Amino acid sequence: MWPVTATPRTALVTGAAGFIGSTLCDALLRDGWRVVGLDNLATGREGNLTRAIQSDRFGFERLDLLDPGLAPIMERARPDVVFHLAAQAGVRPSLEDPRDDAEQNVVGTLALLETARAAGARKVVYAASGGTLYGESSRLPAHEDAAPASMPTSPYGISKKVVLDYLAYYERAHGIAHASLALGNVYGPRQDPHGEAGVVSIFGAAMLHGDAPAIFGDGEQTRDYVFVADVVAAFVLAADAASGALLNIGTGVETSVNTVYRLLAAVTGFEGEPRHAPLPAGEIRRIALDASRAREALGWEPKTSLDDGLRATLEWLRTC
Ligand code: NAD
Repeated sequence: MWPVTATPRTALVTGAAGFIGSTLCDALLRDGWRVVGLDNLATGREGNLTRAIQSDRFGFERLDLLDPGLAPIMERARPDVVFHLAAQAGVRPSLEDPRDDAEQNVVGTLALLETARAAGARKVVYAASGGTLYGESSRLPAHEDAAPASMPTSPYGISKKVVLDYLAYYERAHGIAHASLALGNVYGPRQDPHGEAGVVSIFGAAMLHGDAPAIFGDGEQTRDYVFVADVVAAFVLAADAASGALLNIGTGVETSVNTVYRLLAAVTGFEGEPRHAPLPAGEIRRIALDASRAREALGWEPKTSLDDGLRATLEWLRTC
């Protein structure tokens, strides 16, 4: 008998050259998907796709979501699932230029949804922001039920939140299923150490160069640090489960910036004192995410301890 070879399913990944998007492309290719990666390289790097481009099931399109060229690409790809990670992904740029933030994150998403609908995509899996969605949360770890009444403290938090309503609308009106993953503070290999966020990469790179990193404010602000491989596993699972859902993807644990500093200093052997800088506007004081809904809906658990994740990130930073 001839072996039965299933036709690979097709994924379109936006933000494919970014930190999380490129790691997702690698995981989907490992699982046998055909992947079309799309990115305008605003903050992404082609170097992140070195592994992906070795696969004959991968294709890359350098394109902005707002470019009219999106429709023919979508039509050619005819993806089963669209993983939507392209975004203006920083709080500070959104404070400086809220209009650009909305153009990339809201209008860009609508351009994507319209073309996905026309091309018959079955599902959209969206990278929502658990770190900004809930604003200053009165209950920690934050639960998804708090999202509708939440008040994000930055234009970025708002633009990422508005998309949740559009996705629900497209599911109701046009039958495109969706899952929105509200991510904690994602860290790991490929996170830009020169970016505007990503404290683990920024601190780690500085310490490896013998430079004192800057801690904003008193450093007691907390975040829910979740390792990139665990986050990507949630995206892959969400392709086939949890329709219509908003799911927190985090560890439920609050970790302060001072703790991250201490842990990284211990592994790198950095003995310098941190510099202190004023706390930027738009940042919340504390957050951690209750991921019990993702556990039930996807069977997802974070598997990587903070210690192991920090070591893996430092290992990668040493090669940069
Ligand atoms: P990233 O900046 O590395 O990735 C975003 C990618 O999108 C980049 O490669 C960029 O070039 C691309 N892009 C931006 N605007 C585009 C446009 N208009 N058209 C095409 N491509 C465009 O950031 P990341 O940390 O990998 O974030 C990925 C997604 O996850 C974003 O949607 C972000 O909001 C979300 N998210 C990230 C975190 C985190 O901690 N990193 C937390 C919550 C949510």
